Amino acid sequence: MKKYRVGILGATGTVGQRFVQLLEGHPQFEITALAASDRSAGKPYAEACAWKLPGNIPQTVADITVTPIEPPLDCDIVFSSLPSSVARETEEAFARAGYPVISNSSSYRMDEDIPLLIPEINGDHVALIERQREKRGFGKGFIVTNPNCAVVSFAPPLAALHRKFGVEACVVTTMQAISGAGYPGTPSLDITDNVFPYIAGEEPKVETESQKILGRLADGSVEYADFPVSAQCFRVNVVDGHMVSVRVDLKEPATLEDVVAAMREFPSLDLHSSPENFIVVSEEPTRPQTRLDRDAGNGMTITVGRVFPDTVFDYRFIALSHNTVRGAAGGAVLNAELLISKGLI
Ligand code: NAP
Repeated sequence: MKKYRVGILGATGTVGQRFVQLLEGHPQFEITALAASDRSAGKPYAEACAWKLPGNIPQTVADITVTPIEPPLDCDIVFSSLPSSVARETEEAFARAGYPVISNSSSYRMDEDIPLLIPEINGDHVALIERQREKRGFGKGFIVTNPNCAVVSFAPPLAALHRKFGVEACVVTTMQAISGAGYPGTPSLDITDNVFPYIAGEEPKVETESQKILGRLADGSVEYADFPVSAQCFRVNVVDGHMVSVRVDLKEPATLEDVVAAMREFPSLDLHSSPENFIVVSEEPTRPQTRLDRDAGNGMTITVGRVFPDTVFDYRFIALSHNTVRGAAGGAVLNAELLISKGLI
């Protein structure tokens, strides 16, 4: 199997560390470049990075010297986990220099020529790349993005329902992990013994991204799905895992059995990082729980539970995913595997 050399922008951060962990031993990728801020550039990765994941920094990357976030980088593919304040300009510079850029940042997600991907749902949106290259004059390079980490929890079951019955409207309440804010993130005195009712900029992202992901590719652009989403976003006192409470109205009638079957039958893909089951629906009354279910499918499975008819909407359910795996680094690695399988890298 061909090995691609990858570089990580924001390599010392929460998502950057998760990339390093997930790429260790990956059959298609080998880390050859690590980039971060001026604070880190010039230092060996092991010195620049305050490693926060279990175990030690992998020996394969410990001695790589961290570089500034500018092209050229010694790699074939760039994974970006930069703050949105610097991502837009930097990712464009890399795409213009000919690199495929696979981004976790929100900067380009809603641009009409940029794919916003959950491969199992809308892998066909990679067709936007051709238009993007023409429009922006990127040459060989391009940018694809993965969604907001809370959207990743509920877009899959919503896609299952939208395909079978059509979604009319959706209300979501998110319970998002502390690691979603990066490191050091929410101050401990704000989050300990507390639920924090504000995440800057989050609600508009959660209210708009799923319509693009569930949208249909027509004439080289994405026709957005036409249902409204109403969102309230909370930071809660767990380390990893975003749980979302969902209430949904459907366009066509569906029994509870139909709803559960639609979610369970949504296929996974046959890529290296694909979980065996894309969506697991639990019938245990007490599941999903963040601590117990976030690692399902190596952090790549979406766990749904408490699916019931609702008293105001048609149905309600809970959905959970791992925010730094499926919701960030793991989702981006899956995007890269998809792009390779489609001959785009
Ligand atoms: P983080 O822990 O704060 O890490 C930020 C990284 O970016 C660090 O490597 C940092 O390098 C680097 N950086 C910061 N400012 C920079 C600058 N001015 N120039 C160059 N590099 C700079 O953040 P994170 O949680 O990993 O998030 C990274 C991105 O992923 C954000 O856009 C975030 O919205 C998105 N995202 C995060 C999650 C999540 O669950 N955390 C999920 C999905 C998407 P230094 O160490 O050198 O400062």
